[in-house]
Order: sequence, then structure tokens, then C-alpha cells
Amino acid sequence: MQLKGIEAVSVVDQIRCDRCDKEVHRTESDFEQMTSIGFDAGYGSIFGDGNRVEIDLCEPCLRATLGTWLRVLAPWSIDQMPLWQVWTAVGRPLPIMDSQNPGRFMHPYRVLTVQEMADHLKCSPEAVYERAHAGEFIFLSSPDRVDDQRYPAFQLDERLDKSLLKQIIQKYLEADVSSTLLWSFLRSPQKIYAGLTAIEMLLGGMPPQYDTLTPEERADIFLDVVDEEISRVRW
Ligand SMILES: [Zn+2]
Repeated sequence: MQLKGIEAVSVVDQIRCDRCDKEVHRTESDFEQMTSIGFDAGYGSIFGDGNRVEIDLCEPCLRATLGTWLRVLAPWSIDQMPLWQVWTAVGRPLPIMDSQNPGRFMHPYRVLTVQEMADHLKCSPEAVYERAHAGEFIFLSSPDRVDDQRYPAFQLDERLDKSLLKQIIQKYLEADVSSTLLWSFLRSPQKIYAGLTAIEMLLGGMPPQYDTLTPEERADIFLDVVDEEISRVRW
């Protein structure tokens, strides 16, 4: 038995850039783009032992001050594979086979070039572009070269629920939310899926409480989560 009470929680409501004084409220889209650094200086620190060091910067000021040293990476070079060990440990669907190296598994969060996609699908790179632009595949564009695209490899997995994937892509297109944000959503463990990622769900993974549901009911729940995610990142 749990007895519930209500407690006030303090949240950051507004952030002011320390360099240009620009103020952003949490309901504004720029809010997510503010960078906050804060740490307690350690022993022997040049900031003085135990002092608190803080700064909040908007994106233009972050680039103006630290830009020379910032590492801006394409979405596919971000090393984000948190669930890999969990996946194997709990007997989730097996990763994708790498046809180039039979016996070796292709990482489910790996991305492919258009040529690799074309080789797998036995079609031309142009045909891959066309299918991607028709909303059949997700593709990611490099931050500095739009024509440099990568395709998440899980889309070639035969266990993929293709119709569900198409519906997700369609929702993101309609909401005008970037495929980079879609890619990051797909790889994040979701509480409502008992810690599985959307990719794992698309490949047939299922939390125990979904056992009694029909495939349509599962799809509905899945798409509700997608809608929620879109409204969260969109503002
Ligand atoms: Zn600023």
C-alpha cells in the first residue's frame, strides 16, 4: 500500500545568458539550447578550494566563447550504446547479422552509408534516396554537409515492423521535427516500455505487461509515446 502526498518541486523556470543577458523561459524553444556549467572546485583548484563555479550561456555565446574547442559531431558519430549489454543479458531479439562478415553481428544502433544501404537492398543509391524521401527510411544528415547522409542499420532487419516505422517517420515529418531528434528518441530507453528502446520495440521486443495486448493495441500505445515525445521536443 502506498500513501501519496503532494510536494512542491523547484524547477528552473528561466535561464539568463551570463554573457549577453538574453532570458529564456522554459516554455520557449530556445530553453533547451542553453548550456549550463556548474561544479564544485576541487582541492588545489585555480578557482579556490571548494568554491562553486557556474555559468549559463545561450548557443551563440557558447560558440563565441568556446567555439574554437567545441566538438560538433554528426549524430552517427556519437557513441551512444547504453543498452547493448542489457540487450544481450536479458535475451532481447538478436542483433542484426552483418552480411559482410557472416557470424558477426551488426550493432543495432549502427548507421550505414547510402552505398551500404543500396548493397543490402540490391538497388541503386538513387533508389535508396527516393525511398527515404518518400518517408520509408530514416536518414541523418551531417551538420555541415546535407548530402552526406547515414541510414540507421536496424531498418534492414527483417523483424522490423515496417508499417509502424513508416507511421513514426510520417508523424515526425508532419510535425517538422528533425530526424536527428527522431534518432535520439529511437535509441533512448523508455520507462513505459520497461526500459526497452523504441528500436528494440520495433524489432519485436516486448515488455511483459504487453503480453495480453493485441498487436493493434501495442501499436496504439507505441504511437502515443511517439506523439508525447514529439510534443515534448517541439514546443
Ligand atoms: Zn548569450
